[in-house]
Amino acid sequence: MALVGGVGGARFLLGVKAALGLPGNTEHQVTALVNVGDDVWLHGLRICPDLDTCMYTLGGGIDPERGWGRADETWRVGEELKAYGAEPTWFGLGDRDVATHLIRSRMLRAGYPLSAVTEALCARWQPGVRLLPASDDRVETHVVVDDPENNAQRAIHFQEWWVRYRADPKPHRFASVGAEEAKPAPGVLKALAEADVVLLAPSNPVVSVGAILAVPGIRAAIRTGGAPTIGVSPIVGDRPLRGMADVCLAAIGVDTTAEAVGRHYGARGAAAGDGLLDGWLIHETDSAVVPGVAVRAVPLLMTDTEATAKMVRHALEIAGVAGA
Ligand code: GDP
Ligand code: CA
Repeated sequence: MALVGGVGGARFLLGVKAALGLPGNTEHQVTALVNVGDDVWLHGLRICPDLDTCMYTLGGGIDPERGWGRADETWRVGEELKAYGAEPTWFGLGDRDVATHLIRSRMLRAGYPLSAVTEALCARWQPGVRLLPASDDRVETHVVVDDPENNAQRAIHFQEWWVRYRADPKPHRFASVGAEEAKPAPGVLKALAEADVVLLAPSNPVVSVGAILAVPGIRAAIRTGGAPTIGVSPIVGDRPLRGMADVCLAAIGVDTTAEAVGRHYGARGAAAGDGLLDGWLIHETDSAVVPGVAVRAVPLLMTDTEATAKMVRHALEIAGVAGA
């Protein structure tokens, strides 16, 4: 079982598959619990960035340079929308990608839950791991930022803040809109209860992993489950490797260091608090002390699938789970 966001999560899952010898090895099965906090309706289409990044990456359809969207993409639909002046113009949606979105949106409107829609889309892509949205309910990350024109603050959707504004203006806080009423998607709690190991991908601790944990019941299931939880630091040398996790961490008062993120996740064994970790992987040149958690320093750069698989094998080793 792995908790994942988009690009970092998808690359991590490639390593998980390789470390377990999937798809050849039928002994192991992987469920990825995927962040849905980035999801949004645009142009009447349901956009699920992290689910699609995982599905395309594992299914061999991803554009490797961009890290999101389809390979061999064209942008005619977007040009036509722009010609109509259709908002928003800041969001890129390729022509091939539109097909995925048409199917998803049609199925959602027909009443299918997102988990069922994802399964249907994955029938084509065969990602080799079960992709489960954290929730079938709408749980969307919003960002509270300054609104200088009105001398006030306003909340904007995470996608707008991230894609349109490149994570600038400074976030005051993040809100998971809908989280209180949201339930984990069917199968999530069962998968957590039955897992041999729970891995936290080196995904954004705030808006990817944090947004998954905002769904009530998921954190408690990890804490009380029998499986060891091993996290992988997205912070190497006091910087995020890609993206703007430092800006997100600052907003929740966590330093951009492997140690601070490890402490933010906290020790699962501690009776008090809401910690999650039994083990914490940090990069070989970093150091960290996280009370109650086994910390191991190993290479954490996901430069290729084999390097990522090595990293995953370290995590499995700490957990006492055999890889392939
Ligand atoms: P997003 O949803 O596409 O933004 O992606 P994720 O949340 O899944 O992953 C983003 C995080 O992955 C960033 O905070 C990066 O620091 C981290 N990341 C990217 N590449 C690597 C890598 O090679 N190694 C590690 N340890 N972390 C990485
Ligand atoms: Ca994301």
